[in-house]
Amino acid sequence: MIRRIVVPGFLLLALLLPVAANSLTFSDEWISPRNNERERREETRYIILHTTEAASSSALQKLQLRGEAHYLIDETGRVFRIVDRHRIAYHCGRSMWDGRRNLDRISIGIEVAGYHDREIGDAQYHALAALLRKLRRIYNIPDDRVLTHSMVAYGAPNRWHSRDHRGRKRCGMQFARDDVRRRLGLQRRPLFDPDVQAGRLIHADPVLAATLFPPARSGAGRSHDAGGMPLVLGRDGNTPTAVAGTKWNRPCTLYFLSGGRLVVGNTLSETDARTLPTNTRVWIGYRIGGTVTRERRAFDISGPRWDAPDTFYLFPDETVISGDLADERRIPTGTRILMRAK
Ligand SMILES: [Zn+2]
Repeated sequence: MIRRIVVPGFLLLALLLPVAANSLTFSDEWISPRNNERERREETRYIILHTTEAASSSALQKLQLRGEAHYLIDETGRVFRIVDRHRIAYHCGRSMWDGRRNLDRISIGIEVAGYHDREIGDAQYHALAALLRKLRRIYNIPDDRVLTHSMVAYGAPNRWHSRDHRGRKRCGMQFARDDVRRRLGLQRRPLFDPDVQAGRLIHADPVLAATLFPPARSGAGRSHDAGGMPLVLGRDGNTPTAVAGTKWNRPCTLYFLSGGRLVVGNTLSETDARTLPTNTRVWIGYRIGGTVTRERRAFDISGPRWDAPDTFYLFPDETVISGDLADERRIPTGTRILMRAK
């Protein structure tokens, strides 16, 4: 006869909850044979997130063989150690951030089994959040130094781009999104690409740039009246009418399409509005101030409001930055300026 042991529900919960909240166990099944020959890192400044772009079964083999990550989180949320966290793993390749190159020497690399344009699973969110908490505490890494591989990778000049350029990889792109970051316990993200801003690189992939550095700030949501941050079409069911309401076709509603076209609301037909591409950015209550030329600089167009947070610069490479982040010396000719309509 089997004796039933009755455990009160509240007691079970009390026993399980603390474990669930901190559960982070590692598997050493896939430690790299390269591990022992790798140097120790002298500095740990960044955590860089990757997507494997393949199933974990095949990704693990490749990463292990070459020592190309510190951790891999598989589809079920299991965390595998591949290279010791204090040693160098070769996960970033050609990379740069804020003027520093070869980020393998100053970063930890985490691979998440999945694809740059798909959601990761709940178990993966849970494991990644716990791993980030642990590593950020050990190395004292602030939110905005948790980066994606796509943020830091750059390409050398080639037949299409005569300069060093961003856009070599889309790896880990979704980890730049505010909603994804919030689930990972990250409140802040980098607001712009410091190397493009400084002129060290150019943006070669406008879709990637718009995803990594969307102009809407964390939590800005639909509060376009507070701060004037543009909304992005195609996210969370955002359509022109959902975003702009009855103002969707007014002259003070501006649409900035990928490809660089700037469209004023009153020139849009209903059909046009329905077919505006995803990632189109929208400003409500704005006017086009003008275009920067050699003779007509930003200050000539926007006057004392040139560096205001609700003045926007649309660079020719489609980067959008707000006035408070603009560097007067780095506003190229051809940049269009959007200002609040009176
Ligand atoms: Zn990667």
